[in-house]
Amino acid sequence: MALASPRFKPSNTLNKVATNRTTLQQGAVGRAVHLVQMALLDLGYTMPNSTSNANYSPDGIYGEETKRVVKQFQKDSRTLVDDGVVGQKTIQELDRRLTTFKHRVRLHFRSIALTNVPFHRSLANAEVVFGQYGIKIEFASGQSLGLTSDQQQLFKKIDQDCKWELKDGEFNQLQGLGSPAPASDILVFHVNTFADNDLLGCGGHAKNRPACTIAARAGAWDTAHEVCHVLLGSSFAPVHVPDHRNLMHATEPFLTATPVLTDRQVAQIRTSVCCAPI
Ligand SMILES: [Zn+2]
Repeated sequence: MALASPRFKPSNTLNKVATNRTTLQQGAVGRAVHLVQMALLDLGYTMPNSTSNANYSPDGIYGEETKRVVKQFQKDSRTLVDDGVVGQKTIQELDRRLTTFKHRVRLHFRSIALTNVPFHRSLANAEVVFGQYGIKIEFASGQSLGLTSDQQQLFKKIDQDCKWELKDGEFNQLQGLGSPAPASDILVFHVNTFADNDLLGCGGHAKNRPACTIAARAGAWDTAHEVCHVLLGSSFAPVHVPDHRNLMHATEPFLTATPVLTDRQVAQIRTSVCCAPI
């Protein structure tokens, strides 16, 4: 039976496990292992070794500890054979336990520019990244903003440095355009470019007005990246992580594989006012 949970559904490897074409066991490494470890953490199991590397945590390494925790999960289920191997029945049981989303984040899109990456792809990518952790990205509204010629001139290029809290200036003016959104939702603005041409997005916004701004030339994961900045907030460190598989790598806009988050980042995101339990 195919997997149903948002965490596992997009993973080819885990779907192969679910259809009995492969198993995950000690020695396996990679994103599929990371997703299983994260699922186990969310079910209340602890893995101090596998979560010790803050840049890619859980580490995606199926070692002694993961085997032990899988065995424990199997024992606790009372129906699975406790062999410490994630096979068809074990992945299906994990999937069944985590079928529904536990949190949701509502996004309102406001656009003054066409994006290089099709909009539906940026949205779908954000859905997949956060969905891996049981967080549902909801499209709340979309508006293409009609600008006056003065506004067109002004917002052709956003001439302001990106800061966490934007008290005034072009970002503020921009983020005041269009229909407002509740303070528990995030506004996502698509613009042409920034004065700093290397900048692809900015998570800065006015207090209690969560918003981020994305440049037209941004990559397929940048919307998810900037939304993640808003969700993590200004107090979370590190802001960017050196591991290029993480969504919050500073300069990895053209990732090919679906990026991951660390358990610490996910825990912080779940505390955001914009991330509501469902
Ligand atoms: Zn960033």
